[in-house]
Amino acid sequence: MTAIATLGSHCSLQVLKGAKDEGLKTILVCEKKREKLYKRFPFIDDMIIVDSFKEILEQKCQSSLEEKNAVLIPHGTLIAQMSSEEIESIKTPMFGNKWILRWESDREMKEKLMVEAKLPIPKPVPTPADISKMVIVKRQGAAGGKGYFLAATEKEYHEKRNQLISEGVISKDETLYIQEYAAGVLAYLQFFYSPLNEELEFFGVDQRHESDIEGLARIPSEQQLKSNKVPSFNVIGNSPLVLRESLLENVYDMGDSFVDAAKRLVTPGMNGPFCIEGVYDENARFTSFEFSARIVAGTNIYMNGSPYYSLLFNEQMSMGKRIAREVKNAEKSNQLDKVTT
Ligand code: ATP
Repeated sequence: MTAIATLGSHCSLQVLKGAKDEGLKTILVCEKKREKLYKRFPFIDDMIIVDSFKEILEQKCQSSLEEKNAVLIPHGTLIAQMSSEEIESIKTPMFGNKWILRWESDREMKEKLMVEAKLPIPKPVPTPADISKMVIVKRQGAAGGKGYFLAATEKEYHEKRNQLISEGVISKDETLYIQEYAAGVLAYLQFFYSPLNEELEFFGVDQRHESDIEGLARIPSEQQLKSNKVPSFNVIGNSPLVLRESLLENVYDMGDSFVDAAKRLVTPGMNGPFCIEGVYDENARFTSFEFSARIVAGTNIYMNGSPYYSLLFNEQMSMGKRIAREVKNAEKSNQLDKVTT
């Protein structure tokens, strides 16, 4: 029987609880320092204890996963801690499409896929000299917003970049990516595409709470101006959101279009969970600044099922459980290769 494995962080509790509820075996690749935490959860059948997650790249760990018939569920921690080459070298079958994770990590590839999907993206700003309105400056990969900053002029860009370098937050030779800042209501649109049913499901929406840009918004502007700290967008947690029903049509259109584009650009396409991230402006028009080509931690708020999944399933269905259900169905119909890479 197939087991579900994941790294102990990000959304591992939700993923393994969902797998257990589906009757699958569960394995946690757990850092020694977090063993005590994860031992508290009875639905974890097996732990592979490591000093660092990088050990998953070693033969020993992969053989152990192979023996246990594991399917590995990739999440943000895998992407944050490993290079695309390292992820692609993992032999354990990975749920979804491991090749698309490179498209998430590399800013240029990311933009290419978003353009192909016709997502309305913020205008990229090629160099600091081209800054003419408010921009957000980002780092490569899934940095979770850490070290990101806003600037309205080239001078401000250099001042803030230098400050962050001197504080050791970013490094001198890091390539930074600049794009226009899109103002509006944050919405992280969570989807699941089933390669077995060839169907797109809309799961839910979350908002991120980011520090300390949110902290700054809580103090009067006078004090904001006096603060000489560069506020970051470091994600602390998530909260749920439901959309005006009239927005749903466009949400499904964006999801479908993303799935179609991924099929064209990166075989076998966008299988499994993914997220389109952006803001709604005052005309309820969406601008997308980012996608995640795997489960996002924002799905953790719906461990008992989401509002939109309660419309599709007559049972409590988390994203973790949905993943396990797909694996189970694939196994039953001998199609595991269709849901893994
Ligand atoms: P992750 O991979 O964890 O999703 P990331 O490091 O790729 O994160 P982004 O999601 O691109 O980072 O950005 C982090 C945060 O910065 C967003 O959640 C949002 O609050 C803000 N942000 C990013 N781009 C824009 C933009 N163009 N306009 C307005 N806000 C933005």
